[in-house]
Amino acid sequence: MARPHTVIIGGGISGLTVAYWLQRGGAEVTVLERESVPGGTMRTVSDGGWLVETGPNSALETSPVFKEMFEGIGITPDRLYADAASNKRYILRNGQLHPLPMSPPAFFKSRLWSVPGKLRLLQEPFIGRATKEETVAEFVERRLGREFLDYAINPFVAGVFAGNPEELSVRHAFPKLYALEEKYGGLIKGMIGGARERRRRAEVAKDRAQMFSFSAGMKVFPDALGRFLGQAVEYDCDVRGIKVGQNGTGGGSRFTVEYSRRGTTAVIEAERVVLAVPAYVASSLLDAHAPGLAAQLREVYYPPVAEVFLGYRIDQSAHPLDGFGFLIPAVERRQILGTIWSSALFPRRAPAGHIALTTFVGGSRQPDLASLPDAELLRSVRSELGALMGVHGEPAYARINRWEKAIPQYNLGYQRLLDAIDGLEMKFPGLVICSNFRGGIAVGDCVKNGKATAQKLIEQARAGA
Ligand SMILES: Cc1cc2nc3c(=O)[nH]c(=O)nc-3n(C[C@H](O)[C@H](O)[C@H](O)COP(=O)(O)OP(=O)(O)OC[C@H]3O[C@@H](n4cnc5c(N)ncnc54)[C@H](O)[C@@H]3O)c2cc1C
Repeated sequence: MARPHTVIIGGGISGLTVAYWLQRGGAEVTVLERESVPGGTMRTVSDGGWLVETGPNSALETSPVFKEMFEGIGITPDRLYADAASNKRYILRNGQLHPLPMSPPAFFKSRLWSVPGKLRLLQEPFIGRATKEETVAEFVERRLGREFLDYAINPFVAGVFAGNPEELSVRHAFPKLYALEEKYGGLIKGMIGGARERRRRAEVAKDRAQMFSFSAGMKVFPDALGRFLGQAVEYDCDVRGIKVGQNGTGGGSRFTVEYSRRGTTAVIEAERVVLAVPAYVASSLLDAHAPGLAAQLREVYYPPVAEVFLGYRIDQSAHPLDGFGFLIPAVERRQILGTIWSSALFPRRAPAGHIALTTFVGGSRQPDLASLPDAELLRSVRSELGALMGVHGEPAYARINRWEKAIPQYNLGYQRLLDAIDGLEMKFPGLVICSNFRGGIAVGDCVKNGKATAQKLIEQARAGA
């Protein structure tokens, strides 16, 4: 029997992971990627001794899938774990950077929260369950109090989603946090019970997982997947449409994927199609088949983010860079979301005697700032780094990377979209969505979901569906 052919649209980390596991499972795959390189958001630029991440700066090893894949594609020796000091993260309060406490004694000594703010946390185990779907802000304020929302969760949400806790759904943006209340009745009770379950599933909590990158940056991972998949990945292919017909053999659908490649239009037939593209691209590809879902996909908000990479001589910073970097609560009213001390995390991010700082600007909090002209953006970031870290003088290196649509926001009511996606997959067997707007935005979520998607398709093929 001929192997069912799967076309994966999009060669970001989600699409490449699906392709990897399908190919390992013996399936025939083709990845159609619009750009001329693999990786989507995950790219690294090397320039005269500076190593600049244009998307994710690192990932957390939350799932064993990473190790399996690194071994499979031969990049385990290239992986770098972040310096142990990277566990130290700073949060800004009243213009000063305070380390986020990592132990109960440090918590009680910390000046990040007031005494009433800390005492409020002690009420947490006695707070009941929510009676409606809540935003992250509503959930955290109810369980932990306003101060914890302002000076822990708000900056954390800016760091992960470039998002706004007043809009994100706690159930969808932070499902593990939400599950602690749903399943165990509270966060503290849940942390104890959850640790046992993770041990059983061989998973690691995000706050314990090791942070990693690669000696030559994050692009090592998609590049190695691209090499492993070889001819199965076709670059410069801009997919324009999908036609659905009946499949004579298994009662499923047969798909014709139309794309343009360097000015020429082409088509490819497939028994299965995986959409591994952003929601707004999936929307245009699905408009003819599922207009309701397409409209919802169009509405998914991707705020803009500017990533400003600056290099300085070590002696230009008054701060020792003893940690991951810092995050800024919205109530502090600054012009940046936070800064990663890139050269403190991993070696070879800056030439000898220099430091590298990656600052994020914009997000849902201040979308307009992400599109400031280059000179103004640089002036604003340099002025903030001067005020907050004592960085002074001209940078030795500067590079700006802008994402007009950076990260999908899992806002309140997101379940409607997820239900509509389930409906699409029921209506058109063989058409599947696997992308960071479904099931988590972290690289770890993308690889976990990518493997699960491939396994589901392999099982369906075995069952003749
Ligand atoms: C600035 C930034 C910083 C981040 N930092 C971190 C971090 O530190 N840690 C972390 O875990 N996560 C981080 N993330 C999130 C994480 O990087 C992403 O969620 C993840 O890489 C998304 O992968 P994906 O494959 O789902 O989507 P994408 O990377 O968006 O890939 C989609 C692919 O589809 C292709 N495509 C689009 N349209 C078409 C078309 N019509 N035809 C063919 N191909 C098409 C695109 O070219 C792209 O390659 C960050 C994201 C951003 C934007």
